[in-house]
Amino acid sequence: MPDQKRDYYEVLGVSRTATDDELKKAYRKLAKQYHPDMNPGNKEAEAKFKEINEAYEVLSDKEKRAKYDQFGHAGVDPNFGAGGGGFGGFDMGDIDLGDIFGSFFGGGFGGFGGQRQANPNAPKRGASLRANLTITFREAMTGVDKEISLTRTETCTTCHGTGCAAGTTAEICPDCRGTGQVRIQRGGGGFAFTTTAPCSRCHGTGKIIHQPCPDCHGDGQVRRQQKIKVHIPAGIDEGQTISMRGQGNSGLNGGPAGDLLINISVIPDPRFQREGSDLYLEQPVSFTQAALGAELQIETIDGKVKYNLPAGTQTGTTFRLRGKGAPSVNGRGRGDQYVTVRVQVPTNLTEQQRRALLNYAETMGEGSPAPATPVRDFFEKKRKKK
Ligand SMILES: [Zn+2]
Ligand SMILES: [Zn+2]
Repeated sequence: MPDQKRDYYEVLGVSRTATDDELKKAYRKLAKQYHPDMNPGNKEAEAKFKEINEAYEVLSDKEKRAKYDQFGHAGVDPNFGAGGGGFGGFDMGDIDLGDIFGSFFGGGFGGFGGQRQANPNAPKRGASLRANLTITFREAMTGVDKEISLTRTETCTTCHGTGCAAGTTAEICPDCRGTGQVRIQRGGGGFAFTTTAPCSRCHGTGKIIHQPCPDCHGDGQVRRQQKIKVHIPAGIDEGQTISMRGQGNSGLNGGPAGDLLINISVIPDPRFQREGSDLYLEQPVSFTQAALGAELQIETIDGKVKYNLPAGTQTGTTFRLRGKGAPSVNGRGRGDQYVTVRVQVPTNLTEQQRRALLNYAETMGEGSPAPATPVRDFFEKKRKKK
């Protein structure tokens, strides 16, 4: 079931007049705090992370923010209201997660006090990217192939990641001898100590490129928009994540690429409810079908199946269609479908039907009920009196 959506400004803890910088700051702080890598197995943090990303995705986009300010969630959510069924794959690339987590994981730990220095030219894994994908309930049941569009960092194919123009190579920085760090003496008066700082000549890269590659301007990497095919297996459920190894940002210095993690949202079905691999359906039956028994056509995800409703079935009775539930996402077996009978009390009886029911009531010794006053007439009369 969809939760009540929180206000995006509230999610990020900023005022409605927050500047882009304030938004970015708030987002970075929260994204770090709730990043799944920092909270392994914590579902609450994962949900929060998703919410934060969604809020930032909208508020950081001028056009979307304006729409959101005017219309609320309905202005920016493609699945809000009727007609949902497409997908909301969005471009996490613009948020520049690589920037956030690269500096966070790469530089935050370890290099403290100069005890451990990372070699700037050591292979480094690329940042993982996240995207959201919304599918219909039916697609979740059958599995589906989708395409998402995202911007990611890729190794420059012109220079193969060296950042150097064809036929040239980088020089090892003479100031830091390729370490990217220089030692600085501080203090004095009998109290001197040494700290390290990024080398200003090579900007911490440890190398100097004299002739940069024209395509990546020396970065060795380029940002590219890509369409990526995603296979969604049958049985996937709301909130589950598909992980595509190596489809995130490219690594540095020959390091492996990060992963692409796709959060799946499933648009609920009006008829089927799902819990784990079991499905639940309410089946309306007429009063006479319930009393006399009937052969029903029950809707399942495989199409209709026959079910013999026994005579005298009470409303609220639940029966099970074994093996007609949701497929298991790892391909092993299926759940069951539970069908709850709802007896419909007839309305708008014809005179003939009414008489038949009165005859029936008499045989039951119930006597004659008061003449029926349809509810609508009752209210109409009241209104006319005013
Ligand atoms: Zn290049
Ligand atoms: Zn240097």
